[in-house]
Amino acid sequence: MSMLIFQIPEEMQAWALAQRAAGLRIGLVPTMGYLHAGHLSLIDAAKKRSDVVAVSIFVNPVQFGPNEDFAKYPRDEARDLALCREAGAAAVLLPPVAAMYAPDASVYVTEERLGNGLCGARRPGHFRGVCTVVAKLFNIALPHVAVFGQKDYQQAAVIRRMVRDLNFPLEVVVAPIVREADGLALSSRNVYLVGDERARALGLSRALQVASEAVAAGPCAAGEVRGRMAEVLERHALKVDYVEIVDAETLEPAAAAARGHVALIAVYCGRTRLIDNRVL
Ligand code: AMP
Repeated sequence: MSMLIFQIPEEMQAWALAQRAAGLRIGLVPTMGYLHAGHLSLIDAAKKRSDVVAVSIFVNPVQFGPNEDFAKYPRDEARDLALCREAGAAAVLLPPVAAMYAPDASVYVTEERLGNGLCGARRPGHFRGVCTVVAKLFNIALPHVAVFGQKDYQQAAVIRRMVRDLNFPLEVVVAPIVREADGLALSSRNVYLVGDERARALGLSRALQVASEAVAAGPCAAGEVRGRMAEVLERHALKVDYVEIVDAETLEPAAAAARGHVALIAVYCGRTRLIDNRVL
């Protein structure tokens, strides 16, 4: 079956309604494009749980701050469409910004607890943009199941909470982080890394490894583990945005680093902001 490409949200919605009327289960994979193996693993996970997979490719301006990389975010629509086709997507939504946001749009979705710390504290308005666009995508693609990556741990938690608290009739699945052989988590933003930055970026996964080893040896003070993580990051000349150890559900800072907690990192590698995390 050939893959459908929609630029108009209402047209994908009509398609989704027809799939549902035919008794088919819809899986949705929201992305900002410039697809890599991490995104493809989400499409695979969606295929296992549905009959037809819809992928959205939309660089959402509302989730970017004024000094962030919206304008230069990497884009390659032709390649993305080929990858979606190869991965077996049934339909792709590739809307222009104007098709997603009316000039006088005035309704936004905010989550008021899980999104306050970590990336939410450093990127004001980010999760408001994420929740708003994901709520819109849910209403457009009408999925039975939506798949997100653990790479964006806080985002997945915020979306789960939105789905629960606003009664979206769908299941949220969170798929594991796909990494390069040397440990670097795949990210569309890795294309920004130049010179020795690619090698220095390994500091993130190495710091998470150090945290994991520390906890495997027995519970220890979170401050102690965060300090060891920060040392690894500094050795790789990475500028720390945050290093946290939090409760896996509430995302509240943990006093002790213990199994089941999550270590999360955001750093600047040169001008590129990178995030990574690991369940300890
Ligand atoms: P993005 O295009 O970066 O907005 O990401 C779209 C989806 O892919 C989100 O649910 C991300 O968490 C997920 N994702 C991004 N990178 C990875 C990765 N390395 N492994 C698994 N999922 C990922």
